[in-house]
Amino acid sequence: MSPSYCGRIAPTPTGYLHLGHARTFWIAMERAREAGGTLIYRDEDIDPQRCLPEYAQSAIDDLRWFGCDWDEGPDVNGPHAPYRQSQRMDRFLQAWEHLKKGGYIYPCDKSRKDVSRAAQAPHADDDAEPIYPESWRPALGAGRTAKEPGATNWRFRVPNDREIIFDDVRLGPCEFECLRDFGDFLVWRKDGVPAYELAVVVDDNAMGITEVVRGEDLLISTARQLLIYEALGLTPPQFYHTPLMCDSSGLRLAKRHRSLSLRELREAGHSPEALRHSDDWWSGLED
Ligand code: GLU
Repeated sequence: MSPSYCGRIAPTPTGYLHLGHARTFWIAMERAREAGGTLIYRDEDIDPQRCLPEYAQSAIDDLRWFGCDWDEGPDVNGPHAPYRQSQRMDRFLQAWEHLKKGGYIYPCDKSRKDVSRAAQAPHADDDAEPIYPESWRPALGAGRTAKEPGATNWRFRVPNDREIIFDDVRLGPCEFECLRDFGDFLVWRKDGVPAYELAVVVDDNAMGITEVVRGEDLLISTARQLLIYEALGLTPPQFYHTPLMCDSSGLRLAKRHRSLSLRELREAGHSPEALRHSDDWWSGLED
C-alpha cells in the first residue's frame, strides 16, 4: 500500500503574505484534500534576523481569513508538534552531525558578499545565483573533527560532474547541473541556525511529508535538497512546483508588493472568493 498523502504549508514570517503565497498554499490544500490526506502547517521561523512573531501570527490569521485550513499546526495539535522550526533545533543539529561525519560539508568563512564579488555571472539569466568558487574549497575532511557548528558557516560540497534530475508532478522532468546551476551552498549559518535548505529537508522528512508543493522559484533549491536527502540516506518526497504569480506589469510578486498582501486586500474589502476568481489568481495557471 502506498503511504497516505501528507502535504504541508510552510510560510516564512518575514513579511505579510501576498496573493501568490495564498495561491500556492491553496493548491497545497486542494491536493491534500483531493488525495484524502493530511495537511500540516509549519512556521519556518528559523532565521532570527529576519523572522518576526507578528508576521507569524498574521500569516495564520490571513490564511484562515482566505479560507485555508490544516489538520496539524497552530491550534490543531498532532503527532508532529512543535510546528515552529525554531523549536526543532535538536533535529537540525543531528543532521549537521551526520553530514559533517560523512564529509559532505565543510566550515567556511566566506560571506555571501565575498561569493557574489568573486563569482563571474555563470550564465545570462538575471536570477542566476553566484557560484561559490571551487578554488576556495578546503581539502576533503576539513571540519570533520568539529564537535559543534560554532560561529562559522558550513557549506555542502556539491559533487562535480553531476546532474540532478527529478520528475516534477506538474512540470515533468527537471534537470540541473551541479556547479553550473548552483555551487556549494550553505547548510549552517555562523549565527547558530541551520540554513533553509537543511531545515526544510529535516522537517519534511521528520513530518512524513509525501508531496512538497512550492513555487517555481524554489526549483533549484529542490535540486540542492535532493543532494541533502541523499547524503542523509533519506527518501525524498515528490515535488509539485506552482507557477509564480506576477503583477500587472509582469513582475513576480514579492513581499514588497503591499497592495497585493492578503492584509491589504482584506482591509480594502475584497472577498477571498472574488480573489480566487480574479485574473491575478489565474495568471500562469492555465499552461
Ligand atoms: N518557507 C519557504 C518560503 O516561504 C517555503 C518553503 C518550501 O516550500 O520549501 O519561501
